[in-house]
Amino acid sequence: MQNSAGQSEFEIIKRHFLNSALDFQKKGIELGIGDDAALLDVPADKLLAMSLDVLVSDIHFPSSADPFLIANRALAVNLSDLAAMAAEPFCFTLGLVLPFSDEVWLQKFSEGLLPLALHHNCPLVGGDISKGPLSISIQVQGLCDKSRAIRRKGARAGDKIYVSGTLGDGAIALRAMGLESHLGEQFDLCVETPSSVCQHFFEDAYFKPNPRIELSLAAAGLLSSCIDISDGLCGDLSHILDASEVAAELTLAQIPYSASARCCVNDENRLLAALYGGDDYELCFTVPAKSGKALELIANELGAAITCIGEIVDGRGISCIGSDGAPRKLPSFSYQHFNLAVTD
Ligand code: ADP
Ligand code: MG
Repeated sequence: MQNSAGQSEFEIIKRHFLNSALDFQKKGIELGIGDDAALLDVPADKLLAMSLDVLVSDIHFPSSADPFLIANRALAVNLSDLAAMAAEPFCFTLGLVLPFSDEVWLQKFSEGLLPLALHHNCPLVGGDISKGPLSISIQVQGLCDKSRAIRRKGARAGDKIYVSGTLGDGAIALRAMGLESHLGEQFDLCVETPSSVCQHFFEDAYFKPNPRIELSLAAAGLLSSCIDISDGLCGDLSHILDASEVAAELTLAQIPYSASARCCVNDENRLLAALYGGDDYELCFTVPAKSGKALELIANELGAAITCIGEIVDGRGISCIGSDGAPRKLPSFSYQHFNLAVTD
């Protein structure tokens, strides 16, 4: 790729990635950026977990957003997939498609990858750059203990269903930033303008999701299934249910919300955001009932909020219990959207 100022692909690599703070040394990374391929030494007792997410501008992030935040989000959503498998981050590669090479944009972008790369000891080991409409592909590699990778399949009747953090903030954030979410027009805030505290909270929730790596690594031995919530609780929990061939009974009153979500969105829309909104990048996981206490202790020690929101039962689909303890229907648009079995 060559831009009008003559900055070639290799100059971009040299300036922003090769020997940069992202290109740090780590045990097992025999060779990082600079050759035709990276060389990784995978310990014999581990499985290599690989996951790739492509983020296209104005579909997965607003193109006008701060490049630091775009980068932070791009790496966070990938690390969240490793968290869902209980894989310890190993390294990552980066495919960048850029409409033009903008020095300031690239500088901020590479800086935006750094906090999570350093925090999770996950160096950048290679990638590619091409010219075209802005998109960012990140592939993360992680290491799982052979006996401890957590899959979607494995939930059993009687298991408790937990989520980390709070739900709905990602979708509410899109609305608060004046962007479209896939919740449609019925979804709106109940305040004209969120307070600046709430607005900041939502923007952080969207651009700086917190991949729950520490929690999943510490709890891996207890969990029977796990997924990260990228498309909304209903859709993602349904993947666990389908893979495990079981059903779920959700207690809607237990769904955890942030103070900002409670402040800016009414009860019904908050539920919609949690169930169908997406972009939360929290974990949804199941644990045998006898291990619930041990799990809560682990989460407490880590300072990670987790909430039991229901139980796995025999059958198929998702049923719900309302705040009055009676069975209740999920909001109606879910019928077409997710084809859920609901108890009337
Ligand atoms: P090739 O022609 O073999 O594809 P490139 O010139 O594209 O090589 O890349 C040279 C080196 O720079 C390789 O090690 C490659 O992995 C790395 N690289 C290219 N683009 C990126 C990027 N966006 N981030 C990190 N490393 C990159
Ligand atoms: Mg290349």
